[in-house]
Amino acid sequence: MQTDSLSDRILKGERRALARAITLVESNRADHRAQASELLAQLAGSGRQALRIGLSGTPGVGKSTFIESFGMMLTGQGLRVAVLAVDPSSARSGGSILGDKTRMERLSREKNAFIRPSPSQSHLGGVARRTREAIALCEAAGYDVVLIETVGVGQSETVVSELSDLFLLLLAPAGGDELQGVKRGIMEMADIILINKADGDLKATATRTCADYAGALRLLRKRPQDPEGFPKAMTVSAVEEQGLEQAWHEMQFLTRWRRDNGIWEANRAAQARYWFDQEVRHALLARLDTPQAKAEMERLNAEVSAGRLNPARAAEKLLGTLS
Ligand code: GDP
Repeated sequence: MQTDSLSDRILKGERRALARAITLVESNRADHRAQASELLAQLAGSGRQALRIGLSGTPGVGKSTFIESFGMMLTGQGLRVAVLAVDPSSARSGGSILGDKTRMERLSREKNAFIRPSPSQSHLGGVARRTREAIALCEAAGYDVVLIETVGVGQSETVVSELSDLFLLLLAPAGGDELQGVKRGIMEMADIILINKADGDLKATATRTCADYAGALRLLRKRPQDPEGFPKAMTVSAVEEQGLEQAWHEMQFLTRWRRDNGIWEANRAAQARYWFDQEVRHALLARLDTPQAKAEMERLNAEVSAGRLNPARAAEKLLGTLS
């Protein structure tokens, strides 16, 4: 495959070229990995940056409805929007959170929108790398906003927050008791909590839920890098398209503030270091995933079990066989 022409076409913003490149970065084949790596290196110099927005929420909270309404609003303003997903559950369930064709029907027809289903990978590390590379491709293709969606399971929020500039948490209106259900760690990651479905019969409950979360956020330690009033809670209705402009306004305000104060760059640099560390760990573990290494591990395991070798010494011996 001619990666040169593929990179040219991506730089021109051709969606089909972008889709093909993402397929390349998602592939496990060694020759594809090499081509993907070459392509990413070629595109790294484009200097284009998108606003990367992470979005998390449990199934049914309205993520796809929100992305569709919010995405339509952004494309309506002339912005180009890409939607990616980190969905570690897809490997298990066989279906992807973005695989359902009926989702985001309007947005998928927009010429300034690009929607990509989640890669199906058996482990989060694999999904994370693919998504990270897909984000880089979307940026090179000139997208202004990249939305990275995840369902709130396990570690996926952490992964998404390490991939994004802003992190949104979408919640449903609920009684006061359910506030406890949101893990503190996830709340601490959020820049903006959006209480969705603030319409019709649910409007009053949504307003109350929003006040509860605003109170809870004030009790969290204020992040020194944030301006006054952040993180914040707001109500939206994805269905009635209410509150989306205000939410976008807050996102832009926070983004500008972070850019002006050097926080944006520092955050991306910290993320780059985080992913470097992850890649090293991943590569080291991959080197243990060979028949020889496994046999050696089994042999050493027996020695450790029998008390003939202490665990640290065994680990040293095993790692010694890698070099
Ligand atoms: P996801 O699983 O988080 O992607 O949630 P969906 O976007 O599929 O929405 C789940 C359900 O909630 C659907 O029946 C939507 O119509 C409904 N829903 C989504 N957003 C809103 C909203 O703003 N107001 C109301 N009343 N219902 C909504």
